[in-house]
Amino acid sequence: MRQSESFIPTLKELGADAIIPSHRLMLRAGLVRQVASGIFSFLPLGYKVLKVIMDILRREIDAIGGQEFFLPALNPIEIWQQTGRVEAMGDVMFHIKNREGLVLAPTHEEIITYHARQHLKSYRDLPQIWYQIQTKFRNEPRPKSGVLRGRQFFMKDAYSMDATWEGLDVSYQKHYEAYKKIFDSCNLKFFIVGASSGAMGGRQSQEFMIESDAGEDNCVICYACGYAANLEVASSNAHPSGRESTNLPIEEFPTPDARTIDDLIEKYNLLEERLAKSVVYIIDSQPVLIMMRGNDELNESKLQGVFGTGNFRPALPEELLVSSGANAGSIGPVGLKTKMKVIADNRLKDANGLVSGANRDGFHNKNIDFSRDCTIDGYYDLRTVCEGESCSNCGAPIRIVKAIELGHIFKLGTKYSEALGATFLDAHGNENPLIMGSYGIGVERIMAAFIEQHHDEKGIIWKKPLLPFHVHLLGINVPKFDDVTKACVDAYSELKKQGFDVLYDDRNENPGVKFNDADLIGIPVQVIIGRKNLDAGNIEIKIRETGERKVIQKSDLTDEIRKFYID
Ligand code: ATP
Ligand code: MG
Repeated sequence: MRQSESFIPTLKELGADAIIPSHRLMLRAGLVRQVASGIFSFLPLGYKVLKVIMDILRREIDAIGGQEFFLPALNPIEIWQQTGRVEAMGDVMFHIKNREGLVLAPTHEEIITYHARQHLKSYRDLPQIWYQIQTKFRNEPRPKSGVLRGRQFFMKDAYSMDATWEGLDVSYQKHYEAYKKIFDSCNLKFFIVGASSGAMGGRQSQEFMIESDAGEDNCVICYACGYAANLEVASSNAHPSGRESTNLPIEEFPTPDARTIDDLIEKYNLLEERLAKSVVYIIDSQPVLIMMRGNDELNESKLQGVFGTGNFRPALPEELLVSSGANAGSIGPVGLKTKMKVIADNRLKDANGLVSGANRDGFHNKNIDFSRDCTIDGYYDLRTVCEGESCSNCGAPIRIVKAIELGHIFKLGTKYSEALGATFLDAHGNENPLIMGSYGIGVERIMAAFIEQHHDEKGIIWKKPLLPFHVHLLGINVPKFDDVTKACVDAYSELKKQGFDVLYDDRNENPGVKFNDADLIGIPVQVIIGRKNLDAGNIEIKIRETGERKVIQKSDLTDEIRKFYID
């Protein structure tokens, strides 16, 4: 491709809203342009790399028996109502205003299950792996970070249908292995974490992550044993409060100056480990009192896991008053005004000597014994773990890192097949729901993640197979000097003949502009043809990643390039 004829609009300056490296470089190197918040056009150079990623995805999912579909992005809303996901998706789903009853699909479990229901009728039809690469629409609340979080993006989404749970394990494992190959093929340094299933429902799920300051996920990692989990589900060996040897009767005491846990610690000289904080949530329309230790933070993903519903929210001040008799800051498990379910974090299991609100504004109780003074309906792991706590697996200190999610694999089970009546007859003639899995990868996210990991201050550094061209041929002072131009054209056609994809910078630009653009665009090998070297029968090669330069004989060019790509 001659650069003078191609559309690669590089930029020197950018607006202030592009902050993270991949976003800035994708704009500057002419890969994408933003059309509106979270909506991007891929320009030819960017789309070329996106297609390479799609080829890798197709290759690896085909290799595990995946069959490619193309499903509609416009979906009838009824099918989403039948699985309860219009509510679960909330504002994330785009609803179409001038055509009642249609929505834009944020994912495709519903449509896949619809087809599975039509045709997968017998255990003999199973297992199946169906996939597609398709546009997804999600009304992300604050789209930022460029294509990492778009309102419209490509997803490779695959689904498995099995007759047995063991079959699901096999299909899941196949995807797990395929995903590792995909991210390895893309030269990404990634790690895998146990994850929450969120609005998707289902059982086991894992996420494929890259560590990045640009990430919106937090992951717990133990470098000693390799334990890794999304903060949404991660656990640790944080010390429980346990029992004190003296067990005094409950006593109410005034705490007029205490609004927060820190107030209690500072102004009343109390130990954080003996404080039981009350949090009230309305879960499926019912108030639930949740007891957390001291400053521990309630983890809503874990709460969702415990109750199996995402239908919850913190109680409003007026609801607090009605159910407990007090305002926030003075609520506790003893002497509640109305009966409500009370659960507590594992750290408070059967603890005594605790301080908590007395359900009277400005008063707390001390010496509370959870096993003597109140009914705790269940103890669960409900807290968000903190940096430096000891690993639940090996005891070493854990770290919390920011990460970008590239892919997610779920064991869905029968949630969608039951909701939509997708059943099959087993070998004994019994009717059972299909056992399903769901497996997604963001296509643009792979590209942006790659750039996050492969760039320097000058620009992108592509690496095979993720590259827009193999070679960037820079003609210095062409078209001014005829012999340089001729050498460039010869090299260009010879390299193309040998099967290399070449971008030939034949523009009437000064060398500085060409060098800067070449480093910004980041094609792995630059071939520089200029007057001085050419007079001695030579040309120069520059390796973008290392900056290494080499003067070679003109006739050795294709051998050198072949060596670079084959070695
Ligand atoms: P996130 O937590 O980042 O919003 P998610 O859990 O909503 O991701 P899934 O529903 O599991 O994502 O979608 C599968 C894959 O699709 C993700 O792993 C990610 O690579 C990609 N993806 C999800 N949302 C977006 C988006 N808004 N823009 C680009 N890619 C996305
Ligand atoms: Mg999301």
